[in-house]
Amino acid sequence: KPIYNVIAKMKGAERADQWIIRGNHRDAWVNGADDPLSGLVAMMEEARGLSILAKTGWRPKRTIIYAAWDGEEQGLLGSTEWAEHHAAELKEKAAVYINTDSNGRGFLGIGGSHTLEKFINEVGRNIQDPQTELTVWERTRAQQIVSGSPTERKELLARSDLPIYALGSGSDYTPFLQHLGIASLNIGFGGEDGGGSYHSIYDSFDHYSRFGDPGFAYGVALAKVCGHATLRLANADRLPFEFTNFAETIKRYADEVTKLTDTMREDTQTMNQMVASGMLKNVQDPTETFVVPKAKAHVPYLNFAPIQNALVLLNESAKNFQKVSNVKQISGQAQKTLDVILYKTERALTRNAGLPRRDWFRHQIYAPGFYTGYGVKTLPGVREAIEQRDWKEAGEQIDIAAKTIENFAAEIDKAARMF
Ligand SMILES: [Zn+2]
Repeated sequence: KPIYNVIAKMKGAERADQWIIRGNHRDAWVNGADDPLSGLVAMMEEARGLSILAKTGWRPKRTIIYAAWDGEEQGLLGSTEWAEHHAAELKEKAAVYINTDSNGRGFLGIGGSHTLEKFINEVGRNIQDPQTELTVWERTRAQQIVSGSPTERKELLARSDLPIYALGSGSDYTPFLQHLGIASLNIGFGGEDGGGSYHSIYDSFDHYSRFGDPGFAYGVALAKVCGHATLRLANADRLPFEFTNFAETIKRYADEVTKLTDTMREDTQTMNQMVASGMLKNVQDPTETFVVPKAKAHVPYLNFAPIQNALVLLNESAKNFQKVSNVKQISGQAQKTLDVILYKTERALTRNAGLPRRDWFRHQIYAPGFYTGYGVKTLPGVREAIEQRDWKEAGEQIDIAAKTIENFAAEIDKAARMF
């Protein structure tokens, strides 16, 4: 059975070879009112808005592509085929991919590339929440702080931007972000929409309009957030990539994998002691069968220095770019060249050889876990090697991650030299 993507393209008036892509899937398991139509109708409303602008003679600076993907539920088929078919052109021209998929009443959820974190925070600060006097950004920040752990609360209060989450898989951003290295965002409201109808016959118009998003107020809010984001990206003098938030986030991932190794080392030691002393066996119910686990090999000390050193470079490069780009202006052809360098920074986070045992997944910072389905693993090569206790591979992956971060920092330096 053939599947059909629907692609609409509006050519940019000045930088036609820079593409802003906006997508949502159009296929559903059953009725699909929430998944995918609640996101799709918001996207179509954005497209309708652009068509009204176009009738007045307006054209975006960059090319805008709207895509309604087919075959998402069977495995991201439509978006993957399209991304693979146009891979060479996309690698050259695609600046950002914005995805939506399902939407409901509640708080703003944003996942994606942390080089776009500052940008999407700015967008959220300008959109009114349908139920309160607050902006969607203010209400979401309040929710994150209130529901956060004590540590998270402290971090959130000290930070000027909402943290965006890292993307694993489960929707059409995957071929763009993880296969081609195109900076991506995944955006949707939720948390007060009940849920429970996902992928079932109950995901009906009746259920959605009563419980998902009564009055479709959050459908309008989603169209505003994504419409603003798309238009700002399409028309910005300079593409709004920013690297200090990315540097801060990658540092956190590196600290996590270091801590993970330390925790595993201590836990392994304690468990081995409990096995050796017979303690573990002694607490089991003697009437039940219990097989005593074998002692595990000690967790070695890994050398994370290459990553830490690369992070120092990254931090310097990010700060330097922020400084020069804030005080100096450039124009014309140089601006166009700078844009290309900026959006290709995400490509520098990929590696053609891909991740171990799955070469299609090329992104070295974000990937769905090998064993976790949609669930994300950040610094996936390093993290999964540690989790699998493959210390040789962990060492190799640390070097690869460090090299990736160094290459990325070098691209930022290239951008900074344009000023
Ligand atoms: Zn979906």
